[in-house]
Amino acid sequence: MEKQQFKTESKRILDLMINSIYTHKEIFLRELISNASDAMDKLAYKSLTDDKLAVDRAKLEIVLIPDKSARTLTVKDSGVGMTKEELEANLGTIARSGSLQFKQEMAKAEGVEESDLDIIGQFGVGFYSAFMVADTVTVTSRAAGSEEAWCWASSGADGYTLTPCEKAEPGTEIVMVLKPDSEEDKFEQFLDPDELDALVKKYSDYVHYPIKMERTRTRQKEKPADAGEDYKPEYETYNEWETLNSMVPLWQRPKSEVKSEEYHDFYKEKYGDWEDPLAVIHISAEGAVEYKAMLYVPAHPSYDFNARDFEKGLQLYSSGVMIMDKCPDLVPNHFRFVRGVVDSADFSLNISREMLQHTRQLKVVATNLEKKIKAELLRILKDDREKYEKFWKGFGLTLKLGALADYGAHKDLLQDLLLFWSSKENKLVTLAEYVSRMSEDQKYIYYASGETPAQIARLPQVERITDKGYEILCLTDEPDEFVMQALHELDGRALKSAADPDALPESDEEKAAAEKKTEENKDVLDFVKEALGDKIKEARISKILKSGAVCLSLDGPFSIEMAKYFMKMEPDSAKELQGGRILELNPDSGAFAALRAAMDGDRERAKQYAELLYHQALLIAGLPLEDPVAYSELVCSLMN
Ligand code: ADP
Repeated sequence: MEKQQFKTESKRILDLMINSIYTHKEIFLRELISNASDAMDKLAYKSLTDDKLAVDRAKLEIVLIPDKSARTLTVKDSGVGMTKEELEANLGTIARSGSLQFKQEMAKAEGVEESDLDIIGQFGVGFYSAFMVADTVTVTSRAAGSEEAWCWASSGADGYTLTPCEKAEPGTEIVMVLKPDSEEDKFEQFLDPDELDALVKKYSDYVHYPIKMERTRTRQKEKPADAGEDYKPEYETYNEWETLNSMVPLWQRPKSEVKSEEYHDFYKEKYGDWEDPLAVIHISAEGAVEYKAMLYVPAHPSYDFNARDFEKGLQLYSSGVMIMDKCPDLVPNHFRFVRGVVDSADFSLNISREMLQHTRQLKVVATNLEKKIKAELLRILKDDREKYEKFWKGFGLTLKLGALADYGAHKDLLQDLLLFWSSKENKLVTLAEYVSRMSEDQKYIYYASGETPAQIARLPQVERITDKGYEILCLTDEPDEFVMQALHELDGRALKSAADPDALPESDEEKAAAEKKTEENKDVLDFVKEALGDKIKEARISKILKSGAVCLSLDGPFSIEMAKYFMKMEPDSAKELQGGRILELNPDSGAFAALRAAMDGDRERAKQYAELLYHQALLIAGLPLEDPVAYSELVCSLMN
């Protein structure tokens, strides 16, 4: 029988596993048991919709068989099993799901040598970890609903064989020939029933199928009826199948009895993360719908979180049976990073997905969970700011987009959770914190957009606001201005762009003075408009500049920042938005005086000044120059 080669990447991992220096080799058992449990979940789940797969739940179990004389440990399950193709695909390739590659990259990013398996070992690499303890691994599997069985065997990196074989019942049986003992490693421990018992209790206690092992016990023989005075008790040994795990899933246990380590291990094992979650929310709800839930807020987005095909959702169990792997309706979009499990006997086992969506129970649970998640995030925000900022770094944008979505329907729920950079505090602040610092005379909550807070601080249009001592929220994410528009106000204080001409209240004298200035400089404004033609809609004496000479604004409901966003999304809209450009000029600036002086003497030069000012405004706004070369030539010619 010819050997098949492993796919390259699998081979590398396999090498790592075989030569592992990893100290917790014992985790291989947890990995195999977890796979077995998944396989039975899959079978139970499939049988809900496939009449041909009648499943006797009482028969779903995992069996461990240590055999000292053969030096083998067998892990057996009665799950879905694998077809020939599945054996090839699942055990011949390790990086199939992409998650391993991700883990490796992360391990690298964390500065861990690939040869150092400590980190990799922590989250395990599933089936392949068997090779940490075994020289030869044989997997015999029969897929549920099929008569055929196949045997996959491998002694490590040199490849594997796949041969037809017999198997009486569907399911999978994994036989490991353990490595010889060495100074450091006593592989024989994995044949010791007490040791195996302890490992199951340590790592797999919550697995909701029985993990059974035959144990030899000793008992006192019954005292014969005719036993005399000097009768000494006699003992005998007998064999008995014992269930090693308590089978109570973590989420069914009282919160007070679960250690945070157990929560974390469960999370890392189940969701393939290497980092502990930021928060665990364990709920035991009574009332209209009774349910248990165990939710996790990850410490960072998973590798596929921002992918288009990312599927949100929680696993839904009904009385210990998984009925849906990712139930999307249990978590709202704005909390779609949350992972976890909901278990409720109030959901019918045989309910279809379509029906499920419309059940009252689902809505009740989803509404409750949303509240609990928000409360937990608020608690972190209050008690552990550093942790919250870590959360914000990974999922802040998700919350902001949530506040925007559905025409702002969720803004009231989310606004307390949002953070923005404060020009005054030089750190991220909440809107409530901003409001608490507002002075009596400050009417609005101010914000301004730009690439970075430092750049925003230097924008000519924010100067008059910061000079008053007011705080500005610096918006650096694309959707931020839209978020501000959606939020509109907080506690009756309107949110206002620093670039808005009405951002500061104006006295009647100020108004009159501004009008007078426009009147006085009408000739300059007309000249600039004529010189620039269609590039601008209008030249205007600015109300928003203090010492700066120029800036650009837009007529209509959109700011320059929003316009930039639209232009990126829909380049066709660029023309339309361009039509509304206003060139704002500061009549008290030196540049303005130079322009006026040139108009009286050298009108060609004055035209060039107008061009120059327009280009400065584009640059400040972060907009592309239409013709950078022409601009450069213009500057050079003015220098001559
Ligand atoms: P993971 O479990 O992280 O996907 P593994 O390497 O442990 O990675 O397993 C690869 C795949 O092989 C599993 O996703 C599953 O489809 C299949 N598999 C492993 N063990 C079993 C089993 N006992 N029964 C059925 N399928 C299994």
